[in-house]
Amino acid sequence: MQRKNNIKRMSIHIRTYTFNPFQENTYLIHDDQNNAVIVDPGCYTAQEREVLDEFIQNNDLKIHAILNTHCHIDHVLGNAHLARTYSVDIIAHEGELSTLSMVGPSAQLYGFTGYEPSPLPTIFVEEGDELTFGEIRFKVIFAPGHSIAHIAFYNEENAVLMGGDILFKGSFGRYDLPGGSLETLKNSIRTKIFTLPENTVVYPGHGPETTIGSEKSSNPILHY
Ligand SMILES: [Zn+2]
Ligand SMILES: [Zn+2]
Repeated sequence: MQRKNNIKRMSIHIRTYTFNPFQENTYLIHDDQNNAVIVDPGCYTAQEREVLDEFIQNNDLKIHAILNTHCHIDHVLGNAHLARTYSVDIIAHEGELSTLSMVGPSAQLYGFTGYEPSPLPTIFVEEGDELTFGEIRFKVIFAPGHSIAHIAFYNEENAVLMGGDILFKGSFGRYDLPGGSLETLKNSIRTKIFTLPENTVVYPGHGPETTIGSEKSSNPILHY
């Protein structure tokens, strides 16, 4: 009975695409009225773009925005294509502009010769801000440490966290990249992420989904 009720209450749908050589998870989230947003578009090849575009077109989705948890190269490779195709805003934390400015050099370093520079974000959000797109509602959680101004998008009513590279199933984000810090990441996870309800499903930037409850009991960050 409980299960049935939960399913009925679910008003958003989350599709996961794993894109680019970094195996980054791009999330397409939509409601039953065809409102949609894309979190961390990592689509890079023509085929990856096509797969995403086809689903959007076939389902007549109205893309409202691109949401970036942070601006590492693997999470913004598709920003330019999607911002242009759907004429939408890119939403990020202003503190990530420095991370975004390093993507061009990273693209050269990693050989992403086809990288089309991401437009600058047009809407800046911070801790506590609320975003609404039809029935899709997110509260912004500021949780730096993997990058300088990493944010997560929390949907309380469906117990969903779009967590980017903060916390993974059985691991956690790197803290050795520019702007990263182990102390800061640890603090973010303990005070901002592990304080969410245990049934919250975490949709991470890499790897499979997990829950707050399961990571709180076994994630290696507990030993750092
Ligand atoms: Zn990252
Ligand atoms: Zn990543």
